[in-house]
Amino acid sequence: MANEARINEIFASIQGEGSVVGYKQIFIRFCGCNLDCGYCDTEFKNGNIYTPQSLYEKISTQYNLKSFHSISLTGGEPLLSYKFLKEFLPLVKGQTKIYLETNATLTDNFSQVKDYIDIVAADIKLPSATGVNVLGKNLEFIRSCSDISTFAKIVFDENITEDEIDFCTNIANETGIELILQPKMTAAGMSVKPEFCEKILDKFTSVYPNTRLIPQMHKFLNVR
Ligand code: SF4
Repeated sequence: MANEARINEIFASIQGEGSVVGYKQIFIRFCGCNLDCGYCDTEFKNGNIYTPQSLYEKISTQYNLKSFHSISLTGGEPLLSYKFLKEFLPLVKGQTKIYLETNATLTDNFSQVKDYIDIVAADIKLPSATGVNVLGKNLEFIRSCSDISTFAKIVFDENITEDEIDFCTNIANETGIELILQPKMTAAGMSVKPEFCEKILDKFTSVYPNTRLIPQMHKFLNVR
């Protein structure tokens, strides 16, 4: 069977989250996800089928790859398509950086492609905000990122617990990664008040100073 992946959308925009916020990226959104987070509003079920070569031809014809900060592999969960990525990533390597947005649960799949990844945006999925509990998998995944530039994105709401804060700061103290707190968004805007955000940030920084709070900037900029 041909090595193919279903891709929901391909577009250029400004990264609105995490450590490379504000940079121009080409976003490749893969279909399918192995989780079912309560707050998920991402459309990743429908899309078109590509081979590694046809995807490369599409993006290299449509965009000047060297003019972008990086290609964002997003989803859904892009690591479900690791066999596809193993063939696709060598085609673009060296032309721009590769930025992987992942729910940080598929460590074995990641190990197959990590040589091609420059930056990892790894979620720590708080059960209080997502309704799923994959913290053990998140820990295993982040430990496997030790030789790659990695930060952890932590979406939180008013239900965040002291145990969850301890869990995140313990991972960070062990691995040295940056933590980026992201308030959960609703249709009306941030789900928590600015004062609550500052209080949570203070709790993190009192034990792990390399923590930032960055809301989803693309929603304020009104870009994708
Ligand atoms: S991991 Fe991301 S794409 Fe998957 S269900 Fe959760 S929020 Fe949605």
